[in-house]
Amino acid sequence: MKLEHIGIAVKDIEKSNELFAALFDAPHYKIESVASEGVKTSFFQVGASKIELLEATSPDSPIAKFIEKKGEGIHHMAFEVDDIDAEIKRLSERGFNLIHTEAKDGADNKRIAFLHPKSTNGVLIELCQEKA
Ligand code: ZN
Repeated sequence: MKLEHIGIAVKDIEKSNELFAALFDAPHYKIESVASEGVKTSFFQVGASKIELLEATSPDSPIAKFIEKKGEGIHHMAFEVDDIDAEIKRLSERGFNLIHTEAKDGADNKRIAFLHPKSTNGVLIELCQEKA
């Protein structure tokens, strides 16, 4: 596995795009909405990894709930795998609690699945695999 990106929950993605563009001295390279998750995302390339900003597009979005509970900040870490179906199987067999027991479509041309933070020391972990 390699660290593919870190997801950060933000209230205002336009403002945060400016902030992170100033921080990295480079603009985001894409904006994408994922309707099934109720989020709008933007991506910054930072060396070999990326930063994903996430803004809620509806009040019942998981990001809206996260910000309500914890405020803005680091939301998840995403690790890239070669075979997401095999990893889902391996991790369930090892006793990890998966939020998605089957990979689903995510942003940035990826198939994704999340592990429940209860089984990973409070850290929400995303597995992702680039779509062929
Ligand atoms: Zn992500």
